[in-house]
Amino acid sequence: MTVRAIVLVALLGFLAVLTPWRLLKLGTLVLVSRPQAEVHLRGGNEHYWDVMELEAHLLARGWPVKYVRMPKTYYGKTCDGPEMFGPCMGEADRVLLVNEGLSWNDRYETLAHEGAHTMEPYGVLYNKGQQEMFAEAVAALVVGRYREPAHYLAAYKADVLTLLILQGDIYHAVGELTR
Ligand SMILES: [Zn+2]
Repeated sequence: MTVRAIVLVALLGFLAVLTPWRLLKLGTLVLVSRPQAEVHLRGGNEHYWDVMELEAHLLARGWPVKYVRMPKTYYGKTCDGPEMFGPCMGEADRVLLVNEGLSWNDRYETLAHEGAHTMEPYGVLYNKGQQEMFAEAVAALVVGRYREPAHYLAAYKADVLTLLILQGDIYHAVGELTR
């Protein structure tokens, strides 16, 4: 083995030890996936009761959930007060909007993602890529699916290290949403 190979193996081993395997799996899938504009919907309603529980957790944290008619390109939206345009227009207060056209299984993933946005560590995330990396990682861990989240996150590959750096915050958010 060359010195370079030894350093590389040591670095990978170091990362593997530091990063919990579920985030490592997601991060690896993000790196090998092609960006996909539209996330493949799952359909089905097995997660109905999980949505009810998630809603209760979010409401207790000050974030009510509303199912509303939205353009197909939107699955959900975190509204922190009214906005000039877009889905949050006309909303008086904090609310999580979910597209009423989604199945309960897709609502579950959407709500886990939007709920995670309400728990972003303050002052740490500097761009949309980091925010999406955080929110979608939380959703992936809550729901236990990795492939679709990885396709979505592949558009933000440059920010994949967010998974490693914020692993503590990600696991904390998962714990809060699934308690
Ligand atoms: Zn998002």
